[in-house]
Amino acid sequence: MNRVTKSGSFVSIVLAFLLAAGTLHAGLDAEPQDIEKALQNAFDTYKDLQQGANADYIPALAKVDPNLFGIALITVDGRLYTAGDVKSEVSIQSISKVFTMARVIQDSGPAAIESNMGVDATGQVFNSIVAVEQYQGSEMNAMVNPGAITATSMVQGENRDARWGNIISTYSAFAGRELTVLEDVYQSEAATNQRNQAIAMLMYAYGHIKGDPLEATDIYTRQCSVGVNATDLAAMAATLANGGTNPVTGTKVIDADRVPPILAVMATAGLYDDSGKWLYATGLPAKSGVGGGILAVSPGKFGIAVISPPLDAAGNSVRAQKAITDISNALGGNPYAYRPQ
Ligand code: GLN
Repeated sequence: MNRVTKSGSFVSIVLAFLLAAGTLHAGLDAEPQDIEKALQNAFDTYKDLQQGANADYIPALAKVDPNLFGIALITVDGRLYTAGDVKSEVSIQSISKVFTMARVIQDSGPAAIESNMGVDATGQVFNSIVAVEQYQGSEMNAMVNPGAITATSMVQGENRDARWGNIISTYSAFAGRELTVLEDVYQSEAATNQRNQAIAMLMYAYGHIKGDPLEATDIYTRQCSVGVNATDLAAMAATLANGGTNPVTGTKVIDADRVPPILAVMATAGLYDDSGKWLYATGLPAKSGVGGGILAVSPGKFGIAVISPPLDAAGNSVRAQKAITDISNALGGNPYAYRPQ
């Protein structure tokens, strides 16, 4: 017992020294050059990979450059690492669902989410109507469209503008800069979102949406059209990795005790019906969007994001999944992984 305690305290002293000397990151046991190398390796390995196709059910998404490929990682002590194009914006799409859920959890508490749309995976596609019908809009989650549009309807504000303002300012605080809507994407999706309108009507009929379901759908469509680059998404993920405080700006966006329930829903449902496969490979709570972005959270270590528009059959970016898996595994990002000393 004694020996363990002693060697434990010796390790702590060495760790404290390394942290003070700036050679190790708080929480992440990797040297800066190893992080850079992990990103560059993944970029080089996958930059010529041509699998998958842009989403085209929203016409504007089909026009996005499929070659766009950017990787960004931000540690919980606020250091940014990048590879490729981390400046070009795509629409955030379903990744927005995480941050609207965060707004609702912060203001109304985790029970409001659990008792309304639920916190269980549906095993169905993200815009499944069968999933709504199965349990009359319960027993689902805020990462699929019925639950997400319902979460949007729960955002507080006196009128539509105030509710929208609450959403965009939350996303901006997570990203650490003022985000704006890509109007062409919004127009394109607003003209073609009849299925989401139908889903919202059903969620209203079953009593989950209390206000105007078409207003909720329209605000949801707007939130999906917010423009983000890979660095923005990495900052949003890093804020969750850092217990709700943006590690770059130092702004507390949500309370630390609101973060675990968000990560739990991301872990069970963040990559649509491939969420199990993803968790099996990485252990990371993550969220993808049909714009081609994926962000992932290694709690207490880092947030990472990749943008690459071509998607696989499940709707997840092909290169983003591969790059995040390689980088996180190289850096010991899997929260389930522990090696006995
Ligand atoms: N706005 C898109 C939709 O509702 C988002 C879907 C997604 O990214 N999976 O269809």
